[in-house]
Amino acid sequence: MPLRFADRLNNVETSAIRELFKLLGKPGIISFAGGFPDSAMFDVQGIREASNQALTEEPGAALQYGATEGYQPLREQLAAFMASKGAKDLAPENLIVTTGSQQALDLLGKTLISPGDKVIVEGPTFLATIQCFRLYGAELISAPIDGNGVKTDELEKLIAEHKPKFVYLIPTFGNPSGAMLSLERRKAVLEMAVKHQTLIVEDDPYGDLYFGEAPPPSLLNLSASVPGSRELLAHCGSMSKVLSPGLRVGWMIAPAELLAKATMCKQFSDAHTSTFAQATAAQYLKAGRMPATLAKVRKVYAERAQAMGDALRKELGEAIDFVQPQGGLFVWARLTGAGGKVADGNVLAKRAIDKGVAFVPGTPFFCANPDNATLRLSFATADVEKIREGVARLGQAL
Ligand code: PMP
Repeated sequence: MPLRFADRLNNVETSAIRELFKLLGKPGIISFAGGFPDSAMFDVQGIREASNQALTEEPGAALQYGATEGYQPLREQLAAFMASKGAKDLAPENLIVTTGSQQALDLLGKTLISPGDKVIVEGPTFLATIQCFRLYGAELISAPIDGNGVKTDELEKLIAEHKPKFVYLIPTFGNPSGAMLSLERRKAVLEMAVKHQTLIVEDDPYGDLYFGEAPPPSLLNLSASVPGSRELLAHCGSMSKVLSPGLRVGWMIAPAELLAKATMCKQFSDAHTSTFAQATAAQYLKAGRMPATLAKVRKVYAERAQAMGDALRKELGEAIDFVQPQGGLFVWARLTGAGGKVADGNVLAKRAIDKGVAFVPGTPFFCANPDNATLRLSFATADVEKIREGVARLGQAL
């Protein structure tokens, strides 16, 4: 008998870039395709000591079932960590721990989206968010971006027209755009949230990965100075990009009512995030290791971002257009077609594999009206030498 799956599965298809990822195993491929941090950056010794400490100090709690909201010492450490970054008035009760920030997105989908509800996202945005919200039946609306993030005047028009359930943004070093929303636009987003009484979701896994000056304050931090906006804001954070994605520790800060509903849904989903991972993360933060780890990863990724930008300008010249990223893991670029060169990222992706370099074309990151000339290049996992070689190969493919 054929299996009868839920109708909601008709809303999504398996990721269009999956096929590409299968090719990454080919020997000698230099990959700019992944969305992950470099595993060579993991502070293995620090995490080993933190997990030892967790098992020594609190073995019962670290290995037992725990509260769905999260392991209290970790909630306290996370509130202090967020406070150190400017969210001064945050209490541990204002956040729940999630199994990666991916789960926070899923819980937002579960608690907020009924089939047919409209949700505004950036064009382009994080692919897994598109898939996740569609699984819950959302009708996604694409808000255009430029080098300074989402265009707020266009966003406001879309909010007024569509009255969305919420707006999902990655304001700081977005995936895939790498863009940083300007301070002025951040204020505008919060003001329009209040004006139109629209919930804003700020997904912020990359905000700590800045290369020079710190980015403008997060929407969360800014919300303290825009009356009425904190009640209309959910903020998702993650340990994945700086510490380790394998720990699966993320968190969500949101109005109390939303947190309560999300906690209820989480209970039926995974009961709680791994207590062992949470206790390890709590010990890691308590040991005060985060600042040194942050300084190290920022330095390495900054060098790689610079190397990639320089190589792209040298090898591809006029044929490519991009904004040099100020943080995060990605260069978001656009093929210009100058000199009659390839102007479609999907075509170039296939040719690039033949030349021994991989990247992800930009098309799948758009929920509507894709710009097929775009590409996402990660500079995170290849060292500077490999980046130069990989970009040279990209030049040949072009
Ligand atoms: N949001 C964005 C924008 C991401 O890029 C990612 C990871 N690629 C996530 C959320 C999920 O990260 P995690 O679940 O590991 O915290």
